[in-house]
Amino acid sequence: MLNDKVGIVFGIANKRSIAWAIAQTLDRAGARLAVTFQNERLAENVRELATQLKNPLLLLCDVGQDAQIDAVFESVKKEFGGLDFFIHSVAYAPTEDLKGAFQETSRAGFGVAHDVSAYSLVALAKRAAPLMEGRGGSIVTMTYIGSERVMPGYNVMGVAKASLEAGVRYLAHELGPKNIRVNAISAGPIRTLAASGVGGISKMIQYVSQYAPLRRGTDPSEVADTALFLCSHLARGITGEVIHVDSGYHVLGITGLGSEESSA
Ligand code: NAD
Repeated sequence: MLNDKVGIVFGIANKRSIAWAIAQTLDRAGARLAVTFQNERLAENVRELATQLKNPLLLLCDVGQDAQIDAVFESVKKEFGGLDFFIHSVAYAPTEDLKGAFQETSRAGFGVAHDVSAYSLVALAKRAAPLMEGRGGSIVTMTYIGSERVMPGYNVMGVAKASLEAGVRYLAHELGPKNIRVNAISAGPIRTLAASGVGGISKMIQYVSQYAPLRRGTDPSEVADTALFLCSHLARGITGEVIHVDSGYHVLGITGLGSEESSA
């Protein structure tokens, strides 16, 4: 589905990263990938994983550093000559802001969560757009239902994800005339490094498995297949959308009532 396409995957930390599941799927679909790592501490992990990909380009990128973002797109332009898609699978908030009371969120914590988790999509899209011009493009980011509803403990990250999703709509509007599509995948809870910082993640995973319409949790491969769809020609009419890949959990208003009957 992605033969002759080139793209960048931001957000691989280790083998559990959603970005890693996506990278493997896009690679298998025929794309050539650049994959980035946040810092030297994570470089070894990413370098080792990347040996499983076909001829990948490995690049350093802390999305809080404009100079590093510029360097990534310069390398991609030089090596690939253009860009068909990128995956933004990056988020961060200080651990102390992902527990306890939301009203205790510090000004600095609020700022960094929005900078890394929401503004970074804008910063990357701005650099990607000139490389996608004339060939169309697809931008995919990762979000969570904590942007729409209260998920205790998700706190400032829920507010940052709401900003990210609004950013998806504004970018879709602005880049649509260049045939660049911008969409988000709202994944159900998955056990990853980032998720371990969210208070009560194990309970959330168990809860979704118990009550979601499909009665199971979200597998990273399901998210990756949706990312593949969004990067492909099959999704050419879709932009500005948030697609839930969460076993249907998002349709529920109240859980627990009548579930015995419906699962019988
Ligand atoms: P993860 O920890 O594997 O990935 C998060 C990535 O963000 C890491 O690779 C980390 O290096 C990167 N990152 C953080 N700060 C960065 C910075 N300043 N510069 C560059 N990279 C930075 O966890 P994950 O669960 O795979 O998270 C990926 C995305 O999926 C995030 O946006 C997360 O919010 C989203 N998401 C996760 C879940 C879940 O339950 N795991 C559910 C819905 C959405």
